[in-house]
Amino acid sequence: MSDVNSPLTVLTVHAHPDDEASKGAPTLAKYKAEGARTVLVCATGGEEGDLHNPTLRDEGQPFHGMTPEEEKVKVASLREAELAASAAVIGFDEVVMLGYRDSGMAETEPNEHPNCFHQADLDEAVGRLVAVIRRVRSQVIITYGDDQKGYPHPDHLKVHDISVLAFDRAGDPEWYPELGEPFEPAKLYYAVWAKARILAVHEAMLKYTGESPFSEEWLEREGQDHRITTKIEVGDFQWARTGALRAHATQIDPSAGWWFGLDDQQLAETYPWEDWILARNRVGPIPEDDSERDLFAGLRAEVDA
Ligand SMILES: [Zn+2]
Repeated sequence: MSDVNSPLTVLTVHAHPDDEASKGAPTLAKYKAEGARTVLVCATGGEEGDLHNPTLRDEGQPFHGMTPEEEKVKVASLREAELAASAAVIGFDEVVMLGYRDSGMAETEPNEHPNCFHQADLDEAVGRLVAVIRRVRSQVIITYGDDQKGYPHPDHLKVHDISVLAFDRAGDPEWYPELGEPFEPAKLYYAVWAKARILAVHEAMLKYTGESPFSEEWLEREGQDHRITTKIEVGDFQWARTGALRAHATQIDPSAGWWFGLDDQQLAETYPWEDWILARNRVGPIPEDDSERDLFAGLRAEVDA
C-alpha cells in the first residue's frame, strides 16, 4: 500500500517538450501551490518539431532567412531550454528526460531511427520509467489514455504503454532488481480533453471573438466524458497553461486562437476544470461517476487531533 512517509508526489509522463504545457499544466501548478512535489518525465527531446511560430521568421528574429533544414536544426537545439522555461512556470520540482529521440508523426521516416522512442525496446523503456518512480516515490502517476484516436502520435501511444507497465512493475521486486528499491504507486490517471470543454470553449470563442478554431470534425468527434472520474478546479491556475505554452516559443504561434483565443479569465469562467480518468486505484474503488475532486484522494494522512 502507499507509503505515508513519502511526501505527496505526482509524476506526469509526457512524450515531447510542450506536451506538459498543453495537457495538465494548471492541475500540476495547483498541486505545487498546495505543497505537493511535482515531477515531469519527458520521453523524447522533441527533435522532429517544426517551427510553428511564424513571427520568429520576421526581420531581426532568430529564424529570419533560414532554409527549412536550418530551421529544423535550430528548433531542435532550442527545445530543451524551452522545456526548462515551461517547467519553471508550472513549478515542477524536477524534470527527467528519458533520453529517447522524437519518432516524428506516424508513418514518417524518423519512425525508423534506431534511437527513437518508437523503436525502443519496451521492457527497457519501462525500466527507465520504473527507476524514476522508485527514486521519487510518486503515489500518483499521470499519463495519456488508452484511446488516442484523436492524435495517434507513436510517441504518445508509447507513453501510455510504458506508463501502465511501469505502474504495475515499480512495486514488483522481480522486475528490474538493479533499478532501485521497489515502490508501489497508488493511482494512475489518464489525461483527457473533455468534449464538454471543447464545446464550452467553442461557444465562448464565438461569443467573444466571433470565430472558433474548432472544426466540425472536432465538434462531432465522440467524447470520452462518460469515462471521467475526477475534475480538478483550476480556475485560478490558467496562467500556468498560458505561460508554459508561451515558453515553447518555437512551437506555439502567439496569435493562435486555438491556444490563446480566450484569456485566462475568460477560460476560467468558461470551463474551470481539468478532467481526468482514474484508470487504476490501489487505495480504494474507482468512482462510477465524475465525483472525485482530488488526485490524492485516499492518500492524505489522517490529521491528528
Ligand atoms: Zn507530443
